[in-house]
Amino acid sequence: RSISHRLRQDFVLRVILLLGACETLTLLPFSLYRFVQGSFDKALFDGVTLLLILCIVGYSWWADDSRRSGLILAVTSTVFASITTNVLGIVGVFWFFPMMLTNFFLTDAKRALMINIVMCLVMIPILMQFSPPESLFSFIASSITANSCAYLYARRSDLQQKSLERLATHDALTGARNRRSLEDSLALTRDRLLNEGRPSSLILLDLDNFKGINDRFGHPHGDEVLAKCANLIRRSVRFDDCLFRFGGEEFVLLLADVEEIDAADVAEDLRGIIASQLGDSSCPITTSLGVTGLHPSDDVKRWLKRADDALYEAKNGGRNRVVLKPSREENNN
Ligand code: GH3
Ligand code: MG
Ligand code: MG
Repeated sequence: RSISHRLRQDFVLRVILLLGACETLTLLPFSLYRFVQGSFDKALFDGVTLLLILCIVGYSWWADDSRRSGLILAVTSTVFASITTNVLGIVGVFWFFPMMLTNFFLTDAKRALMINIVMCLVMIPILMQFSPPESLFSFIASSITANSCAYLYARRSDLQQKSLERLATHDALTGARNRRSLEDSLALTRDRLLNEGRPSSLILLDLDNFKGINDRFGHPHGDEVLAKCANLIRRSVRFDDCLFRFGGEEFVLLLADVEEIDAADVAEDLRGIIASQLGDSSCPITTSLGVTGLHPSDDVKRWLKRADDALYEAKNGGRNRVVLKPSREENNN
């Protein structure tokens, strides 16, 4: 991934880099000024703080795990802001407050609030050393106000982010994952499971003569059948099995850690469950299913294509059936 792509995609990484840049621009001259003034211990303290923050910024960049790096930076910089207050006096509070607010950008709302509550409690005895009680009261009151407002805002933002992610990756009608997330998920699963030498299988399921159902009962009824079908599939498989809506009335089921022969049994069960629970005598509903396992030489396209070929065979063979296309057979040809 290019640098600009990473920065565009990763908000927390942008905040971490910005924080590193701001701390460098402010703490570095400050540390040098104190050194020139002869306050070696304070210059050393600023220098160590800056170095630690830059180490975390560097770690964030190389580890490519903003969730963890954001949390580490939130904890470290808030702890250092309170140590600053202990070492340098009331001036540290000017660092402590913006750090509390920045924590809501670095990690999720609940974690940021927890860090801030704990660190505010740590700050109270520190401030009691040199602040009159009214200042202490102001610190507590303003901390509560700032944290409550920031928490509400950050919580709303976290929930919006989650719902946006869901909208981008899931199909609204059936709640199954959409086609866009299918290719990403298949590629990730393929890489992970092949590396670990674990099996994985795909089931491609298509409702038979679905056009006829729409024509006979209307499009809204067809929609209802699709939504019920997705629910039924989800209820009938393991929690970790991923269901995707591949196209109109076509679904893909990704089964990690399942050999293709066992996936064919799952497909057979699904065929029976859908026929008995979704259809009835006035509106029989059958499905055709193509099954195949993952071969080490497969890329995502080839893996999907083999499942599609199996489905095609099931349709050509008269529908309402499962066809397994063994991965080994085709890849040996
Ligand atoms: P086959 O057994 O060969 O799969 O026949 P089929 O009629 O199921 O397949 P075909 O590809 O000819 O038609 C698919 C139909 O699915 C046509 C389209 O109107 C319908 N469809 C696709 N998406 C939706 C949807 O979101 N809602 C409804 N109600 N129908 C849909
Ligand atoms: Mg169909
Ligand atoms: Mg179809």
